[in-house]
Formats: sequence, structure tokens, C-alpha cells
Amino acid sequence: MADEVRTALVTGAGSGIGRAIATALVQAGYRLVAADIDEASVGQLAAEFGADLVFPLRLDVTDKPTVDGLLDRIPAAIQPIDVLVNNAGHDIGGRTRFDIGSADDWSNIIDTNLAGTMRVTRAILPQMVACNRGDIVNMSSISAIRLVPDMAAYTASKAGIRAFTDVLRGDLAETAIRVTEILPGLTRTNIIRKRHRGDEQVEREYFERYKVALEPEDIARSVMFALSQPPHMQIAQMYILPINRW
Ligand code: NDP
Repeated sequence: MADEVRTALVTGAGSGIGRAIATALVQAGYRLVAADIDEASVGQLAAEFGADLVFPLRLDVTDKPTVDGLLDRIPAAIQPIDVLVNNAGHDIGGRTRFDIGSADDWSNIIDTNLAGTMRVTRAILPQMVACNRGDIVNMSSISAIRLVPDMAAYTASKAGIRAFTDVLRGDLAETAIRVTEILPGLTRTNIIRKRHRGDEQVEREYFERYKVALEPEDIARSVMFALSQPPHMQIAQMYILPINRW
């Protein structure tokens, strides 16, 4: 009998770390639901790998009704979802002292990174529980643990993901569902440019200052390591740093 094809859903799959994870999953034989707020970017993934392997889905993780009805928009033939990667996130307007930064910026960071992760999980988890199988991978950050000034919203969002992921793992301890938190350090994606609303010079100086950055594929490899462990074993956390950090 042929091996069963498993389905993975990645949020924020159109760019950076999400795109690398999406690519690694398809290359490992998963069928992919590639979800992103930017429809064109996940359309490109479908064009690259073929519509039979990648189902592109426009999804804004802050859009509550759409997230709640998420499974209704995915063809039944490619369900259930076996792997959920909650990756969508940003720090737009971040690196600003809290009394100066706009309240809309920080609430959007929390809505996307933390509430988005929780809501997408809530939309998909009942199906995983019913099947008694699955993996949930939450994209946290070293910011969840290393508290630095001028990053209140992003830090709170990732510390929230830390706490949520631990509690969820406890909630699901009697099931076969595994819950993994990934905590990357600086990774070369568009996140810094977007944080500074497109300022490429600030982005360039930022990466130059830290000298070494991880590549999105490094994070994707780590996720695939966690997913490829035997069913009795769950990688709870992976804390991943560039070589020159500590
Ligand atoms: P990118 O900006 O390259 O990718 C983020 C992706 O998420 C983009 O495709 C973006 O779409 C999408 N996205 C943003 N908002 C939403 C939303 N509301 N709904 C759905 N999709 C959305 O950044 P990264 O790859 O770096 O970020 C991925 C994750 O990794 C984030 O959670 C980030 O916090 C985390 N991370 C990143 C680190 C880094 O140094 N890069 C370090 C630690 C963690 P669009 O392009 O249209 O905005």
C-alpha cells in the first residue's frame, strides 16, 4: 500500500521563514495549504510546485470570521490537516519606545502574532483531536525569553506564544498530538524592513551590525527535524541562534 499523503497548513507561507518551511514540507512529500495575507505570494508557490501539491489560500490571521471558517475553504479531499505551522507574524512599527509608538501598531502586532496563532489553532485543533493525531508548530522567537527595551508589543506577543504553547501541550498531553515551539534568533527575511516600513538602509545597517544571521532554510530544517521524530517523542522547544550570539 502506498504511503498516506499528509497535509500541512502553514500561515505566512508566502515569504521568509514560512516560505522555506512550506518548501521543505512539499519537498518532504506533504501536501500543502499555503496560507498568507498576500494571495499572490502563495499563488507563486502553487505555480512552482503544482496545484496538486500546493493549495494557495488567502488568509489574514486577524480576520476572525474567516479564520473561524478556515476549514470550510479547504477542499475536503486534502483534509484532515496533519501539521499546522503558525508562522504568520510581524513587528511593523516595532523598535519604538512604548509611549511613542502608536497603539494601533502594538495592537496589530498582538492581534497577528499571538491572537492569530491562538485563533488559527482553535479553528483546526478540534479536527486533530477527533483524529487523535497531528503536529502544531508555533513560531515564537528568542524575544519570548530575552527581554529588550523598545520591543514591548513583539516581546509580549512572543512571550504569549511561549505560554500558550506550553499550556496547549499540557491540554493535549493525553492525545497523540505534538506541540512544538520554535525560537529563532535573527533570521534573514523581510521582517526588519517591514518593521521600519520599507526602509532598506535601516535594514542593511541592522544586518551589518549583527554580522551573522540565520537563513530561513535553517529554521525550516529545524522544523522538519521536529516533525520527523517518532510518534512517542515531541520536541517541545528549539532555541536557534546564529553562531556569534549567546
Ligand atoms: P516575513 O515578513 O518574511 O514573513 C512573514 C509572512 O507573514 C509574510 O508573508 C507576511 O505577509 C505574512 N503575514 C503578515 N501578517 C499576516 C496576517 N495577518 N495574516 C497572514 N499572513 C500574514 O518575516 P519572517 O519570515 O521573518 O517571519 C515569520 C515568523 O518568524 C514571524 O512570526 C516572526 O515573528 C518569526 N521570527 C522571525 C525572526 C527573524 O529574525 N526573521 C526571528 C524570530 C521569529 P506580507 O509579506 O504580505 O506582510
